[in-house]
Amino acid sequence: MSEATPYSVLFEPVRIGPVTARNRFYQVPHCNGMGHIRPRAEAAMRGIKAEGGWAVVSTQETEIHPTSDLSPYAENRIWDARDMPALRLMTDAIHNKGSLAAIELAHNGNHAMNHTTRAPIFAPSDMSVDFSHPRQARAMDKSDIRNLRRWHRDAALRARDAGFDIIYVYAGHHMTLAHHFLQPHMNQRSDEYGGSLENRVRLTRELLEETREAVGDTCGVAFRFAVDDMLGSDGMQAAEEGRAVIEMLAELPDIWDVNVAGWDNDSATTRFQPQDGYQNDYIGFVKSVTSKPVVGVGRITSPDMMVSMIRKGVVDMIGAARPSIADPFLPVKIEEGRIDEIRECIGCNICVMADNIGAPIRCTQNPTMGEEWRRGWHPEKIAPKANETEALVIGAGPAGLECAMQLARRGYQVTLAEAGEEPGGRALRESRLPGLGAWIRVADYRLHDLRQRGNVQIFTQSHLGPDEVLELGIPNVFIATGAQWRRDGVGTNTQRQPPTIDADATILTPDDIMAGQTTPDGPVAIYDDDHAYIAGVLAEKLAQDGHRVVFVTPESLVSIFTTHTLEQHRIQTRLLELGVEIICNHTLAGVQPGGLQITCGFTSKASDIACNSALLVTERLRNTALYDALKDMGLKTLELIGDAAGPALIADAVYTGHMAARNFERSAVEVEKDWFRREIVSLTDGATG
Ligand code: ADP
Ligand code: SF4
Repeated sequence: MSEATPYSVLFEPVRIGPVTARNRFYQVPHCNGMGHIRPRAEAAMRGIKAEGGWAVVSTQETEIHPTSDLSPYAENRIWDARDMPALRLMTDAIHNKGSLAAIELAHNGNHAMNHTTRAPIFAPSDMSVDFSHPRQARAMDKSDIRNLRRWHRDAALRARDAGFDIIYVYAGHHMTLAHHFLQPHMNQRSDEYGGSLENRVRLTRELLEETREAVGDTCGVAFRFAVDDMLGSDGMQAAEEGRAVIEMLAELPDIWDVNVAGWDNDSATTRFQPQDGYQNDYIGFVKSVTSKPVVGVGRITSPDMMVSMIRKGVVDMIGAARPSIADPFLPVKIEEGRIDEIRECIGCNICVMADNIGAPIRCTQNPTMGEEWRRGWHPEKIAPKANETEALVIGAGPAGLECAMQLARRGYQVTLAEAGEEPGGRALRESRLPGLGAWIRVADYRLHDLRQRGNVQIFTQSHLGPDEVLELGIPNVFIATGAQWRRDGVGTNTQRQPPTIDADATILTPDDIMAGQTTPDGPVAIYDDDHAYIAGVLAEKLAQDGHRVVFVTPESLVSIFTTHTLEQHRIQTRLLELGVEIICNHTLAGVQPGGLQITCGFTSKASDIACNSALLVTERLRNTALYDALKDMGLKTLELIGDAAGPALIADAVYTGHMAARNFERSAVEVEKDWFRREIVSLTDGATG
């Protein structure tokens, strides 16, 4: 940056032990479902972050030994020398773009189930594993602790040799032995590793000292530490032991990477933690205790907030996982003064969901995330148009907006028609529900981009039928007309036996409520066979509106899919606190005026629920009438995208819109030929290094 700007301070270099970060942007470790299973994909993704200006780019947690086997999850691995070539791909990709590569070494103790290795599981004391699984971890004896230290040291040396510049010791998220030893409820030892805080911190101190001794001459040593367990007096608190740990270890690491635990608190969704920078109150004291640089997170996307955090001395480096996923080019955009081009994270945790199901990362806002290697997608670059031609996109929900924006970026003349008064589709509708306000960013980012462009025309209040489409004479048409919720109660659990719906019963769907339709006074029964967020959000809204709400689900938990987005516990807690009656393991049998019939999923025993209206949240029906009418009408291109092609998450709608724009004017054969690149398992003998 040549001239001083309000953001210049963000581009000052920061020294981290023997290495120097070129600016203050630090991509902290984050999971991505690629790891040791898909190393090329992860390397390319991290390389894009470096290209986008993150001065430090970290791995996700990296298993240091077969006794820390996180399978079936796809984390990184540095068990022995055979893992180094895969990690070298990543360090090379990061170095090629001028950034520092950091590795988060981890031994996960009883958080690793060792499903593949079937190795013994370790913990500070005898205890169950950290999952509902009938295995226990055994208390580490002194030789286990000596081994752990040796494994960590060896892993640090391998990491250095694989090209990493910063090596982590990790005591966070309740996920590693270093953290487990710190926790009094997990560490009931009576030797020098248990009891007093000084004893509980001993293992961490040894790991830090030994990492520094092994690699500290060439690598920075980072310590990732959760200063607060967010459990009040039941856990470590920033004001008490959290602070004491930092005082004890203040100058040992070269950089403090501080956050809160567990992962659900650290990666809180906007629904439950709307405030960007929400960790500042917890981590703000750290800089007053150490002279070493401090990096912190908290879904920080606003450059002004970043500057204020630096100026106020909250942190030295702006840490980001999700903001760097939603916009890998966030630093470059700030540096170039393109603030309004930042694609802000909406805090939905769909990225987290992918890791939790062992699938490659994806992002609602950034459809290229996870596709950098396998499809060659770059978040900021797209091939220019092949020919002078025009495209019509019908429907301005997430799919239509993304498709129109990418087509416009390619240089095509684009017309976007939307039936509603405002563009945005479900992003707009859902953003009006409790806690989902940030989701409007999906529409805002794309609309802002589209409105800057001379080759785009946007029409609202323009419901197009087939005749209007043909009259427009635009040869290439993308149909993004969305989907609507069913009224007949048919869903996964009622397919075999659809419920009986009395014609006089008051049936509501999520679309009715989002359209502002009044819910009749009195109790509402919600039947949720969708299992994602929407039924839970609507229950919250209706309860807030003063209705008595009964929530029925065939599953054993409310909104069970949201366990993957780390929200389930909070959702169920909130509903219970609002007085919502929850009935699990029951399926809808029928709806009559004044009540529902449900049956137990195990015994088939029937029961009745009195209510004045029934809100059915089951499946969606695709809006394909326009598409069907236009088939065989001689259009050069006619493509269904988004929920009209397959109802799913907003992330999926954006993705299919993006894909359609990328593939426009490519032949079907060409598209099919390179569906995506795969990382095929090598069949060479893996027995020796
Ligand atoms: P997606 O998630 O696939 O983007 P949405 O439901 O969010 O789907 O958006 C679909 C949008 O399409 C809605 O805003 C709707 O008003 C609009 N739409 C549906 N049918 C038509 C039509 N025939 N002409 C113009 N717009 C339409
Ligand atoms: Fe943010 Fe959602 Fe993207 Fe994750 S998936 S980075 S939470 S927008």
